[in-house]
Amino acid sequence: MRIMQVTAEATPYVKVGGLADVAGALAGDLAALGCEVELVLPRYRCVAALGLDLSQAEGVAFPLAGRTVTAGVERLARADGVTVTLVDAPWAFDRDGVYDDPKTHEGHPDNPERFACFARAVAELIARDPPDLVHAHDCHAALLPGLLRLVVPPARPVKTVLTIHNLAYQMLSTPRVLFDIGFSRDWFRPMSPLEFHGGANFIKAGIHFADLLTTVSPRYAEEIQTPEYGCGLDGLLRERAALLHGVLNGIDTAVWDPATDPFLPARYSAADLSGKWQCRRELLRRARLPQGARAPLVGMVGRLAEQKGLDLLAAAAPELARLGLRFVILGSGQQKYHRLLRALTEAFPERFAVFQGFDDEMAHWIEAGSDFFLMPSRFEPCGLNQMYSMRYGSIPIVHRVGGLADTVTDYDESADEATGFAFAAPRADLLLAKARSALALYRDDGSRLAVMRRGMARDFSARRAAEQYLDLYNRIVVS
Ligand code: ADP
Repeated sequence: MRIMQVTAEATPYVKVGGLADVAGALAGDLAALGCEVELVLPRYRCVAALGLDLSQAEGVAFPLAGRTVTAGVERLARADGVTVTLVDAPWAFDRDGVYDDPKTHEGHPDNPERFACFARAVAELIARDPPDLVHAHDCHAALLPGLLRLVVPPARPVKTVLTIHNLAYQMLSTPRVLFDIGFSRDWFRPMSPLEFHGGANFIKAGIHFADLLTTVSPRYAEEIQTPEYGCGLDGLLRERAALLHGVLNGIDTAVWDPATDPFLPARYSAADLSGKWQCRRELLRRARLPQGARAPLVGMVGRLAEQKGLDLLAAAAPELARLGLRFVILGSGQQKYHRLLRALTEAFPERFAVFQGFDDEMAHWIEAGSDFFLMPSRFEPCGLNQMYSMRYGSIPIVHRVGGLADTVTDYDESADEATGFAFAAPRADLLLAKARSALALYRDDGSRLAVMRRGMARDFSARRAAEQYLDLYNRIVVS
């Protein structure tokens, strides 16, 4: 099967969040499963700077705002069989920051125009040489299923899958952006596929036109059909529920393996954890926190955004500090959360250490060196860090929502099967109750090691997810 994966991020080329890990791993795993895979990305400035061994391919011309514009196309043929295609539209992508201006931390104001242009260029590539299936990821590629109705002859339709990695990001714009790339005004009448409260909504268009919809965990697939988590699209998702599948994200078990991880000061396995204790000591030293095994060390890594529940951490912080827990936190994102974290380190310098910025190595260090890993997310489509943390023997403490609910088995409910702690609602008092349970477990070495080792043995490999996707593709592609 010839499959085109279209995404705004993919490892190892460009990463902002979990989308990159998932899309990057999926391309390689599908190739290993025998598919012919093309991975299509914008040629961002940061990707151009990687110095990849690219070859020029024929560019594409397409109408944009009444003019004909061209985009360059560059290709990389990888040893694993994946072809990487970069779409080069310098006005849209030759700048600093993937989605946000790094100086202001605000989104680029022309993001809808940038990604509409990307989707339009990719549609042209598809029309030229249609694959069996196009898999579009998130709002950045979500216009493709609709665009293909315009550019591919109806006699030879290309099947489309849209994966919603995070419904909170929908890409809203003025309708003009859609008309500029060729969508008809007829599709923009109230309640029609492209219209959303008088504006355009890329993800809504994708949900409407895709042949199959997926999201990144079974629980999130249910949640987004409710008003609480549906971000205004729950009605449409309920209508299309028969096409919507939850495929739990997997992790790259080669990159995230404590037995071989080149970032770590020491390596370890479930059979011999001595390297983990060394990682812990080194992490405490780097974080300038007091050494000592009496108090557990809790790690956090993530985007600093409202979704991630940092307000719950802040509300619980004085009591968490009083209980003796220590925290190492790595994150980048909104300024108000940077300020909040700085305030915690000032109020409790012996308890909170914060690393600000995006730092792959430090993310690995925190997974390895922590005793527990906290994810108080208000919502979480899947979450990868809790899976990394289980694999690294850091026991997750999570809000039981979305993919966190699907991956972490709570100790207080089922001690014999537990892999972590899960609190039932996004409330600081419930987080604190779980922190107390975690502290009690920490002091019971036998039980703690059993929970750690159970988590380390869980199979979260991305290969399983790729097999599920292939199964879904086979349902809609008639060979
Ligand atoms: P999301 O996609 O919502 O950001 P996920 O947990 O699904 O959250 O994935 C986040 C990914 O990005 C993980 O691989 C995580 O380690 C990584 N990450 C997030 N923030 C940082 C950071 N500041 N430094 C290094 N890695 C980070």
